[in-house]
Amino acid sequence: MQERFIFTKHRAYCYHCGQVADQVIKAVSAQAQVTCSNCGATGIYVPRVENVETPGIFTPIDCHDLWNLTADAACKHCRVEGPHDLVIGCRHFTTRCRNCDYTHFYKLDLEFVAHCPIEIEES
Ligand SMILES: [Zn+2]
Ligand SMILES: [Zn+2]
Repeated sequence: MQERFIFTKHRAYCYHCGQVADQVIKAVSAQAQVTCSNCGATGIYVPRVENVETPGIFTPIDCHDLWNLTADAACKHCRVEGPHDLVIGCRHFTTRCRNCDYTHFYKLDLEFVAHCPIEIEES
């Protein structure tokens, strides 16, 4: 079953290639990933705890600033399609439904550096 949850982009400094490039952000309930569109460096995140009340309880230890983003997604808890808050650091990744506060936590599982096989057109 193909699940589509979060799909967005964030323009940020990539600490692998040292360029400011779109970071492609995808998440489903089983996994989240962030891929640099310039060099293909990818971080894979796996679920840590689901449905924790306070998004701030995990102290971030990060090599880049936290990205606070918003993306539209269909919440698997309340089924409402609407804005979700994303908080992404290089070691953790959280999504939170603004409608019901349902939160996914992910932690960094592995990281790899590769060249993306697909050409991404930038307008
Ligand atoms: Zn990069
Ligand atoms: Zn929800």
